Amino acid sequence: MRTRNFAAGPSCLPLPVLETLKDSILDFEGEGVGLFELPHRGKKFDSCMDEIKSSLHDLLDIPSSYEILLTTGGASLQFSMIPLNLSHEGRENYYLLSGSWSKAALKEAEEVSHAKVAGSSEVDGFRVLPEVTADISDASYLHYTSNNTIYGTQFEDLPQVKGIPLVCDASSDILSRPISVKDHALIYAGAQKNLGTPGVTLVLLNKDLLSDSLKGVPKLLRYQTYIENNSLYNTAPVSSILVLREMLKWLQKSGGLDQIHATNKEKASRLYQVLDESSLYVPYAEKTARSLMNITFTVSRPELEDDLVSFLKKENCIGLKGHRSVGGFRASLYNAITLEEVDVLCSALTHFEKNHS
Ligand code: PMP
Repeated sequence: MRTRNFAAGPSCLPLPVLETLKDSILDFEGEGVGLFELPHRGKKFDSCMDEIKSSLHDLLDIPSSYEILLTTGGASLQFSMIPLNLSHEGRENYYLLSGSWSKAALKEAEEVSHAKVAGSSEVDGFRVLPEVTADISDASYLHYTSNNTIYGTQFEDLPQVKGIPLVCDASSDILSRPISVKDHALIYAGAQKNLGTPGVTLVLLNKDLLSDSLKGVPKLLRYQTYIENNSLYNTAPVSSILVLREMLKWLQKSGGLDQIHATNKEKASRLYQVLDESSLYVPYAEKTARSLMNITFTVSRPELEDDLVSFLKKENCIGLKGHRSVGGFRASLYNAITLEEVDVLCSALTHFEKNHS
């Protein structure tokens, strides 16, 4: 039996996707070469790229002025590419700080541009979501992280920006629910949670907002290079892109974003209910800010932590230890995690609490 893998990323993939990929390792769809061997130049790969774009158009309402780009360097490279490509003379780039990843994004932006804090919830231990408190009327853009993988909070509504271009790091909740692309200048996400395997990063970009002064910016750090070369200027992470293609097809077959969102809400609510009714488990995020994707909690008797990890492992549930900066536990309920797997986790947690009361 496969383990139930609740890791934050790289995370589990849906079984049907794995089954299809398994079959293509030796021969990718009759090409005579396998998944890891397919050339990035050639008709087959071009058609896979077209399919990815068409699936994304089907799943999300992407306006015609937007480009769909596939980059490398993870979400972390976007922390630099965004300020390098979207900054405008005499303006500032603003960052809403809701956790470690948005702080990391700000730090990189400070290296290459004029970047400022728009608002922060750090004094509250990032248990709540920040509001924009600075005057951002001179901003080139406002950057926010839609889901905070480490602290377990998630924006339900878009930050109020009053016409300022909005940039979103959606690495840990992309395609887990509908998102309005047209209300964003740029949305980016590393693949290793809801989009497949590490190595490729999805960028949805309104190209009208690109800066026209890119002097000194290396070619591979310019979005224009990806636009002009269909994201194939250099050797693309072929296998990760082929996994992404399969993930998108699976999501379409599973009913699209409304359906997956409904399932994700149900999964999260079952687990939060167990935590809320418990006197052992203590949810980390405030109720108003809770994430559907990463559910964080501690235990009121920390001496039981190791026992709980071992107990969960025996129940075949892994990847649940919290990030080192928060401690405790984190259950990542990305799209690939099923309701049944959540039920097993809920029963295991309830069982453990009963055994220790
Ligand atoms: N942003 C968020 C919200 C993340 O969860 C992560 C980590 N997966 C990153 C950025 C950094 O991603 P990467 O390791 O792909 O650079």
